[in-house]
Parts: sequence; C-alpha cells; structure tokens
Amino acid sequence: MSASSVRRVIHVDMDAFYASVEQRDNPTLKGRPVIVGGDPQGRGVVCAASYEARRLGVFSAMPMRQAMRRCPQAVILPVRMGRYAEVSRRIHAIMADYTPLIEPLSLDEAFLDVTGSIPLLGSDILIGREIKQRIKAELKLVASVGVAPNKFLAKVGSDLEKPDGFVVITEQNKQAVLDPLPVKRIWGVGKVTQQTLASRGVETVRQLRQMPFDRLEATLGAAAASSLYRLARGQDDRAVEPEQEAKSLSSERTFATDVTDRADLEGVLLEEVERVATRLRRQQLYAKTVMVKIRYGDFRTITRRTTLAQPTCLTDRLWEAARSLLIAWQKTAFGPVRLIGFGVTGLAAEQGRQLELFPDPHEQRLRRLDRVIDEVRDRYGANALQRRHKG
Ligand SMILES: [Mg+2]
Repeated sequence: MSASSVRRVIHVDMDAFYASVEQRDNPTLKGRPVIVGGDPQGRGVVCAASYEARRLGVFSAMPMRQAMRRCPQAVILPVRMGRYAEVSRRIHAIMADYTPLIEPLSLDEAFLDVTGSIPLLGSDILIGREIKQRIKAELKLVASVGVAPNKFLAKVGSDLEKPDGFVVITEQNKQAVLDPLPVKRIWGVGKVTQQTLASRGVETVRQLRQMPFDRLEATLGAAAASSLYRLARGQDDRAVEPEQEAKSLSSERTFATDVTDRADLEGVLLEEVERVATRLRRQQLYAKTVMVKIRYGDFRTITRRTTLAQPTCLTDRLWEAARSLLIAWQKTAFGPVRLIGFGVTGLAAEQGRQLELFPDPHEQRLRRLDRVIDEVRDRYGANALQRRHKG
C-alpha cells in the first residue's frame, strides 16, 4: 500500500458564504433572499446568493439584471471583501488548531490534511465534526464538510449534502457514493467534456467507470482519459499543499510551434499576468518588480524587468508594465517565440500608506473588477471570465 492510501483529508466549504456573513451581521436579513454582487444598474454579476434566493433561481455569476428579474424582492448588497476576508481568517484560525497542512482554495473553502493529527486528536471524523461545530458556535456560520482518504473524495463529500452537510467517504463506500453521480461532478469535466461523454451515452460516474480505457482515450485524449479513469474509481494522489510565503511568483507558456504573431503573444502574456495577479491577491501580496521572460525558437532566453512606482496586485497595473516591456522588446529584439512568461518579485504584504490616505477612484474600480473576476473564477474555473486586451 502506498502512503497516499492512508491519507486523511477534510474539505471544509462554507455555505453561501458572502450572503451568510451578511445575514449573520444583519439579523433582519435572515430568511430573506439576499444577493451579494455588482451594480444592478450596470453590468455587475452575482457573487453570492443566499439559499432563499437560490430557490428562486438566482445563482453566482448570473448578471445582476437577470437576477433582479427572477427575484425582484431580493435584498441587494455590495461585495464587502474586507469583511469576508476577516471572517475567513477566523475560520482559518479554527482549522489551524487541528493541522498546519491547510490548502485554501478561496476565502470560503479549504483542504486539510489531518493524517498526522489523528494520533493526538482521535479520528478524522471527530476532527471534521469539531471544526464544523466550532464554526457554528464561534462564528454563527454553517459549513459543509467532507471527510475522505483524498482531496477529490473530500470535495465530493462536502458538496453531497449541502447546505449543512457532513459526509464521510471511505475506501469501502467510495464507489457506491460516486457511481450514481453525474460525470460533471468529477474534476476536469467541464461542459465540453460532459457533452462529448453524453454523446457516447456516458452520463454517470458508473457509466464512465465501465468505459474501457482505450475507448476513453480515443474519446478524450491520453491525459484526460487517465485522470478521469482514476477519479471515477475514487483515486487521487495529490497532496494537500499549504500556501507558502512566496518570494516570487511566475507563470509561463511553452508553444508547440514558435509564435511570430504579435497579437497572439500579447494575448498569451495577458493570461499569464492574470494568473500571477490572481495568486498575488489570494495570498494578499503586492509586487514591486515585474518581469517578462522570452525564449526564442533557438532556446536563447532573455528577461526584461521593470520596477513599479507603487507595489500592486491589480491585474491592470501589472499588465500595463508587462505590456510596455513586451512592446519595447518587439521594437528591439523581436523573433519567433517558443516560450513566454510573466513573473513578479519584491513581494510584500503591505502596499505602502499613500493610497490609503488618498484613495484613487480608478484604482478602487480596478480593485472591484479584480475581486469579481477572482470570485467568478474561484467558483467556475480559470476560464470562466476572460479579460480582453485592447490591441
Ligand atoms: Mg462555499
């Protein structure tokens, strides 16, 4: 037996987190449909909906206008990210009483590896129950919890009986739990894969599991096939990875064939900037220096860097800097590109005081935009929203 087969993982997922925090902070909102989101007059989207609003057909990432049509009686509230982050830190502090191995996925969701805590604290089930009870007692909020031998099953578990769920999945019952679920519950199965599988008559995990591997491979390609083959059997070896204090962050893309189109390069670089910016914000860090890395078709690699006037975590600011580095490079040293990357260094937890004394409305608008995008991506994946770069 491998070490991973004895791992014990807990997934904690807060129920309708932002909306629940609002209902808790203002008890007159209890039992009423609450929508937290962007400007209902503008092009805002729903960031969170209370269960009362969900019952009336309002869901995250839905345009606010549509949400208001479906649920005109809803209480509409602006996103108070600072407040949610504060509550999130308190949830994190409770979880940290049980293990140092905590991997947050967003403000309201985290994996815990409690394997090493069991000798001291009893069992994974006891730990899961206690965390859920303490969140209820100390923070007056409801979490759904999944307890399982790996991350995938723990996440399936926390979702299974939401809201207020507590589900234990074991090696013994895992197949019985997974088999009836729709394939979209498996990580990596998005709309396209779901449709492809449906066209082959595969709609449940059981049907997926019964599909011969070579047929799965012919349908979805080798990488997706081997991932889905294992997940359908409840197998997942990924470790819980606690966030570490980063000294730098970067993201890069290698192309199958060298790229010479300037607009294509710009588009890819923007995606890399967004990825890094999201990670910065998730770790509540600000970057002082930005860097663009380019590898030519002949493997020669160069970097161009610049220091910002003010440390930032805003996608727009980072993109401005990255784009001017790219343009300068295109003017002087352009050539076919095999790899392009973006990185930041000089990371700090503080931005400096200047901006807080004189908040810049444009800066605040950018910050709100980033929050909404981060939130939608947390829920729907990195490709849920794409920013356009203006040529
Ligand atoms: Mg949640």
